[in-house]
Amino acid sequence: YNGSSKASESVFKIPPIKFTKLFINGNFVDSVSGKTFEAIDPRTGEAITRVSEGDKEDIDLAVKAARQAFDHGPWPRMSGSERGRIMMKFADLIEENVEELAALDAINGGKLFSHCKAMDIPGAARNLRYYAGAADKIHGTVLKLSEGFQGYTLREPIGVVGSIIPWNFPTIMFFMKAGPALAAGCTMVVKPAEQTPLSALYYAHLAKLAGLPDGVLNVVNGFGETAGAAISSHMDIDKVTFTGSTEVGRKIMTAAAASNLKPTDKKQFQKILSYIEHGKREGATLLTGGKRLGSKGFYIEPTIFTDVKEDMTIAKEEIFGPVMSLMKFKTMEEAIKRANNTTYGLAAGVITKNLNVANTVSRSIRAGIIWLNCYTAFDVDCPYGGYKMSGFGREFGLDALNQYLQIKSIVTPIHDSPW
Ligand code: ADP
Repeated sequence: YNGSSKASESVFKIPPIKFTKLFINGNFVDSVSGKTFEAIDPRTGEAITRVSEGDKEDIDLAVKAARQAFDHGPWPRMSGSERGRIMMKFADLIEENVEELAALDAINGGKLFSHCKAMDIPGAARNLRYYAGAADKIHGTVLKLSEGFQGYTLREPIGVVGSIIPWNFPTIMFFMKAGPALAAGCTMVVKPAEQTPLSALYYAHLAKLAGLPDGVLNVVNGFGETAGAAISSHMDIDKVTFTGSTEVGRKIMTAAAASNLKPTDKKQFQKILSYIEHGKREGATLLTGGKRLGSKGFYIEPTIFTDVKEDMTIAKEEIFGPVMSLMKFKTMEEAIKRANNTTYGLAAGVITKNLNVANTVSRSIRAGIIWLNCYTAFDVDCPYGGYKMSGFGREFGLDALNQYLQIKSIVTPIHDSPW
């Protein structure tokens, strides 16, 4: 698969695909079954290459490697500054390969090359450096206990982390979890989204070059109902971190039994078109867009609905596509009430010059982040995560690091033991 991009935003070189196997215990290996699946270019709908398809057996092997690396390997035992040094090197290598990595997310994720090059890939390096800098500052606290006793807490890595990530930000999601988990001293089994299997394998390769010990970071591509489910139900994984839909989040939490679905990117494309049909049927006015763009690839026109009522499907469910619903309101109180009248609570935005409105709305809306006079502004120093059914826990910031650590209290009498 080669040739130059036809994307009008910028012309970039499509790199040869170097890594397609599973990355387990420091090596690229075929899946146990030998099965592979297509990595699709959503701009054309054509296959870029085939990648190894991991299933339960492969997850078992990856977990075994991660378990061994955690229980007996050097990673959780080395000093925080040494872990940080390796993570810094990893970040440098990512920057050195920015063009190739940005091209991988562009052709496999359907993302803008210019965005990936300017934001997603440098963001990965920045994320690693942020947490690398925190790796040697993981402290416990001294406890004020009853008279005669002293104590302190240790913050210890939680163990083997299973990481299940979605397709919308293949690189950012990868490091959002790997940055704090690695800094904490955890080891990982990562399952990228089946739509975007490529860049994660490249990261595994760079991690090895940077000196990450074998077994610390394993990458197993595969489908949610098989490889993903094997992670969520695995007895030897200490923590599962997941970003994706609420529906799958719920399944992961209850570790539902696996069947054998074979979804492709296309699935999302059809889902968005069906939401647009719902919008029309339920009485919203289609102001613009609403159709497929072109005949190649999976593009959808920017779409705006007006006259949207709160109980319409397009107002209630997450569409995850270029579809916007406009709803009018008269008072600030009404806007707050309606914004809170949803089961979701990830993010909200307010555009205003009125300081009172800015303060009141941002404190009243039940969401994990409020963007004032901006939207989707992210920073590794800024905790991010949802209220209500948008999940729990926080990514980014030092709060994220705590989620990969657990606290051990140590208590001892100061003088002779009363026991
Ligand atoms: P999105 O709606 O963002 O595409 P999904 O929730 O469908 O997100 O998928 C996000 C991630 O969860 C993907 O890596 C997918 O393979 C995985 N996944 C899907 N179903 C399951 C499942 N039953 N168990 C574990 N992981 C799953």
